Amino acid sequence: MTITYIGLGSNLSGDMGSPKDHIVSAIQELGELQSTQMLTASSLYESEPLGPPDQDNYINAVVKLDTELEALELLDCLQVIENGHRRERHQHWGPRTLDLDILLFGDQIIKNDRLTVPHAEISNRSFVLAPLAEIEPECVIPANGLLAELLTKLDLSDVKKIQ
Ligand code: ATP
Ligand code: CA
Ligand code: CA
Repeated sequence: MTITYIGLGSNLSGDMGSPKDHIVSAIQELGELQSTQMLTASSLYESEPLGPPDQDNYINAVVKLDTELEALELLDCLQVIENGHRRERHQHWGPRTLDLDILLFGDQIIKNDRLTVPHAEISNRSFVLAPLAEIEPECVIPANGLLAELLTKLDLSDVKKIQ
């Protein structure tokens, strides 16, 4: 079994509702994944978008799972869930109904064509580290260091807990 943390993000309404609706239902779907248990889900957070301007704000969250899946099997499952939310890939960092990233996978360091773990940008993103700190304040991020230390280097004013 491996403890893994998944980052969720949405800033586009779709058939399944608002960004918040997409995050709430994706958290539920992650709890129903095969060979996997949901341990904790963070609050929802709102953040300003990265990338192209004129996008709506993001809703973000982080969940902690315990899984028997391998990392690439988990990525496949996350992409099935994203596709179920009719995510279409148009523009890098453009608006999306649902984005699911593997933030951490046990203490593994993974670099291959499909997967970089810990997530390549984890230490730069307040909308990832703030919800992660809520559920795992003592977290140590392989090759990056103490979460608490990384947080001191970020401006947290652009990410707000909403519920
Ligand atoms: P960013 O990686 O900067 O958050 P993004 O989430 O918008 O950008 P996507 O378009 O969702 O990027 O994903 C592009 C590819 O990134 C995916 O097809 C996947 O193979 C790869 N990838 C690499 N590392 C990870 C990871 N840790 N979690 C999820 N996908 C990853
Ligand atoms: Ca992402
Ligand atoms: Ca992604």
